[in-house]
Amino acid sequence: MPDNTENCYGCRACEQICPVGCIKMVADDEGFLYPQKDNALCTECGLCIKVCPIDNDSVFQEGKQTYYCFVNADAGVVDSSSSGGAFSALANEFCKSNKCKVFGARWGNGFNVRHCSVDNPLNIEIFQKSKYLQSDVLHTYSEVKEGLEQGEKVVFSGTPCQIAGLKAFLQKEYDNLLTIDILCHGVPSYKVFKHYIEYLEDMYNSSVKEFEFRKRSSLFGVKDSCGTEVKFSNGKELSFYSFNDIYMKGFFSALYYRKSCYRCEFSQEKRVSDVTIGDFWGIEKTDKRLNAHEGVSLIISNSVKGSAVLKGLHDKHKIYQIDKSFAIPYNKNLISPTPLNKNRDEFFRRLKVERFDIIVNDYVRNVGKIKFLAAAVTPDKIKNIMRNVRERIKT
Ligand SMILES: Cc1cc2nc3c(=O)[nH]c(=O)nc-3n(C[C@H](O)[C@H](O)[C@H](O)COP(=O)(O)OP(=O)(O)OC[C@H]3O[C@@H](n4cnc5c(N)ncnc54)[C@H](O)[C@@H]3O)c2cc1C
Repeated sequence: MPDNTENCYGCRACEQICPVGCIKMVADDEGFLYPQKDNALCTECGLCIKVCPIDNDSVFQEGKQTYYCFVNADAGVVDSSSSGGAFSALANEFCKSNKCKVFGARWGNGFNVRHCSVDNPLNIEIFQKSKYLQSDVLHTYSEVKEGLEQGEKVVFSGTPCQIAGLKAFLQKEYDNLLTIDILCHGVPSYKVFKHYIEYLEDMYNSSVKEFEFRKRSSLFGVKDSCGTEVKFSNGKELSFYSFNDIYMKGFFSALYYRKSCYRCEFSQEKRVSDVTIGDFWGIEKTDKRLNAHEGVSLIISNSVKGSAVLKGLHDKHKIYQIDKSFAIPYNKNLISPTPLNKNRDEFFRRLKVERFDIIVNDYVRNVGKIKFLAAAVTPDKIKNIMRNVRERIKT
């Protein structure tokens, strides 16, 4: 029987490998998918257990790791990406030729998120920008295997647990596969996100037509790259700073992640993919020319294949090697999983009967707003004001 306990990441590897189709993924009360087995059909072949990424050391990379600071040379690509446009650069570098399949997470109907592929890296814009909910990998592992066996080049991007699931599913290494994992806090379910969309539609009396995370803006000179933008059918458009968006407030407070996220085995320095990408939070403390909110990626190469692809980026983009001690303190998921929010279970109990925003506001203090305002009055800014005042007094 595949593991369908709180450890399950919902990667679907067990369902996809089953030769008799006796495993189905079923959503629980919280909206997360778990495997369910039909015992009458099961032949006890054990494949579902073999491909489960839980406690499966074989999925980890053993190679030397190198950390990089990266900004895509194409400002347009940085604009349409979450951070520095690393994903686009890596996919293009690995593919080179047109015959290449790139897999990633895209918005689907009704704002669910699902994995799919495009046949050319030029078409990857549907995968760009983070979607802060769990993407359903559907049957993409089987499609990846088919492509690889036919000799196609394949790039697969996803959360670390999705890459672990893919590697456990494939059960062998392929030279023509590049895996890219994103650094990950944790994933909410589609059900949670739907409650949020319904709340917006209720508040603004119109259906949501378009939605985008990671909008860049600034307030009092402080940059923000985690805002959201919503477009409604009646033409109304809204944008929120990260500290004002009720969904991001709950997300950053870890109020509604999948249970496995709080015990994630992949939230550590040792990685599962060839290349890991994330936001380079804190880079401005080391490199004064950069600001993470303007789009700077952290890239970690974890394998020989990863290093080879990274090498190809040097003459095309802004990239330099950096000591890991500049990255790890600002990206806690490189050390350990996000700690459990003690109100998580209560949140899901209340979601059955109460409105999304009321519950989140009950549990999340506005720490984001305080931090933001604090950044607006940094010691440097205060010093500048004092200097100006002193000079005025002198004259
Ligand atoms: C749920 C979630 C949590 C994250 N947590 C962190 C974090 O703690 N620290 C950090 O530094 N970065 C985190 N990120 C990653 C970060 O936001 C950027 O996605 C990453 O830096 C890539 O930026 P880019 O500019 O290279 O890529 P872009 O060009 O913006 O491409 C986005 C990439 O992310 C993938 N993707 C988008 N949404 C999902 C999803 N729901 N599931 C799986 N894959 C997805 C796409 O397939 C694509 O490969 C998180 C992203 C998500 C989706």
